[in-house]
Formats: sequence, C-alpha cells, structure tokens
Amino acid sequence: MTLVPSAHPTGAVDPPGVEEWWPRAGCRGMDPNLFFADDDESITAAKAVCRTCPVSDECLEYAMRGRIDHGVWGGMTDAERRRLRRSRARASRQNG
Ligand code: SF4
Repeated sequence: MTLVPSAHPTGAVDPPGVEEWWPRAGCRGMDPNLFFADDDESITAAKAVCRTCPVSDECLEYAMRGRIDHGVWGGMTDAERRRLRRSRARASRQNG
C-alpha cells in the first residue's frame, strides 16, 4: 500500500497506490482548498461533507496510518487526529 499524503480524495485523478475506497469519497471533485483551509467556516463545511461520506472510517484510518499532518480527513482536523493518536497510544500502553 502506498500512502500519498500530498493528495486528497477530492482529486479527480487517483494517485498511484490509491486504496479501493478512494473513488467513493464523498468529497470527490470538490475544491480541495475547502479541506485544507484554516478558517472555522471552511473546516465546519468540510466536516459536514465528511459526516455524510460513505468511506469516512477508511479515510480517517488512512490519514492516521500515513500520519498526514494537514487537512480534514475522515471528519477530523490535523489537531484532532493528533489528539486521537495520543489517546490511542495511551490506551495501548494501559492495555499492555
Ligand atoms: S471522509 Fe471527508 S475527506 Fe475523507 S473521503 Fe470522505 S468526504 Fe473526503
């Protein structure tokens, strides 16, 4: 599997090594800038798209595995994914 952190499922062209869920992305064909903006209004709008996306779980795990540190993926911002990563790491340590 190839992770392509610089690409996003909004893209009309699939990057090499794309996973099978990628073409079913709810954001397919949308302006990628919406998913990489810093303002609250854009982030809220991007998350609204993600909430109805049929592949949001796959998208989030793709971004988590690839440690993608920018943009909204799977309905979470980069800061939210970092918190989730820390939370998972804590839980993993506690569970041995
Ligand atoms: S979860 Fe959001 S960013 Fe990911 S594919 Fe779906 S709409 Fe796009």
